[in-house]
Amino acid sequence: MEQSLFHSKTAVIVVDMLNDFVKGELSWEQSRAIVPPIQSLLSSARQKGAPVFYCNDCHVPGIDPELKLWGDHAIAGTEGAEIVSELAPQKDDYVIPKHCYSAFFQTDLQWILTSLGIENLIITGLYTNICVRHTAADAFCWGYQIYIPKDCVSAFTAEEYETDIAYLKTVYGAIILSSDEIK
Ligand code: ZN
Repeated sequence: MEQSLFHSKTAVIVVDMLNDFVKGELSWEQSRAIVPPIQSLLSSARQKGAPVFYCNDCHVPGIDPELKLWGDHAIAGTEGAEIVSELAPQKDDYVIPKHCYSAFFQTDLQWILTSLGIENLIITGLYTNICVRHTAADAFCWGYQIYIPKDCVSAFTAEEYETDIAYLKTVYGAIILSSDEIK
């Protein structure tokens, strides 16, 4: 299946590709493995003029509920909360800080997507079963068609990955494909 997706109604979302998740304590090899395919997807998106959104944990100590459950991570202003250098945002990209799993929760994302007339979201990043899933849930409720390039998302275990890819497909109607099928 070949998708001609990179047009004015499609945006790419990159969730939590931050030092703490890709290189720090909350990382594992599979979170590093998705860096090169995301890199090449973003480069195609930019060439074709599709907007790129980085949606990043940017936690406030003592406030954000996630920290009680997972411990401190991606604390605002720390190196751990910065996007990995390999995927550094470029001039026209959007960087959206978030305080909980979903990139839509209490952020400007929906407002900007609506202003740009976006209808399709290609969601990439970490983790398939947590922030990607919660972002997909809200994207579905707002009426977006979701695309998940399966080589650009990762979970902590292969089992969680498979279960959640199936969940995204069944519950949110996500189209699951490989990043090189997205043109
Ligand atoms: Zn977090």
